[in-house]
Amino acid sequence: MDNTALWKLSYGLYVVGVKKEEGRFGGSVVDAVAQVSTGTQPALILSSMKNNLTNALIKNTGEFTLSVLPVNVDPFVVANFGFQSARDVDKWANVPYSLTDGLPVLDCAIASIRCKVLESKEFETHTLFICEITDAQNGKTDAKPLLYADYQLNMKASASEAFKKFKETGKPPVEKKAQWRCPMCGYVYDGDIPFEELPDDWACPLCGVGKDTFEKIE
Ligand code: FE
Repeated sequence: MDNTALWKLSYGLYVVGVKKEEGRFGGSVVDAVAQVSTGTQPALILSSMKNNLTNALIKNTGEFTLSVLPVNVDPFVVANFGFQSARDVDKWANVPYSLTDGLPVLDCAIASIRCKVLESKEFETHTLFICEITDAQNGKTDAKPLLYADYQLNMKASASEAFKKFKETGKPPVEKKAQWRCPMCGYVYDGDIPFEELPDDWACPLCGVGKDTFEKIE
């Protein structure tokens, strides 16, 4: 058998989000995902590496999200979820994300899919999870999906570079969404525009105070 022939199969790239413990999450980059049924009970399969913590967490909790990566994703996102283990680090702390019904989804995802495991089958290196798709939503941004071959050809080097820089500086390069709080009424702005500085004509939508009153939450 010539294994290089198998490299010509095509895949996308996705980030799994799965519950680890209260308020903390595991996740990894996966490629072997395929929708296997539509209709009223849409289903997909995910093949997940047995060595990964993500695999054990999916087995423990029976539920996960998939964030579909855009072709223009920051290479650090792939490195963050692909080059280190959630046993050692909180990967989700390094990237902007939002929680949906208790599971994380990347802010940069062009779509998110929530899955519930129905059945699984063990192979030598991987577990095949057969899942019901319980929710699917388009993301905040739209772009073409990143394909595994694009990553291999165009992004692998920059992902390695981004990861090296992260290890040196200890700082993730992906901008976190700044939040702003109104100390007068407690309103928190957590909107789509990641304001570093609020606009001059900013006013609290609840109590009306101006931008100078707002406090930045780092
Ligand atoms: Fe206010």
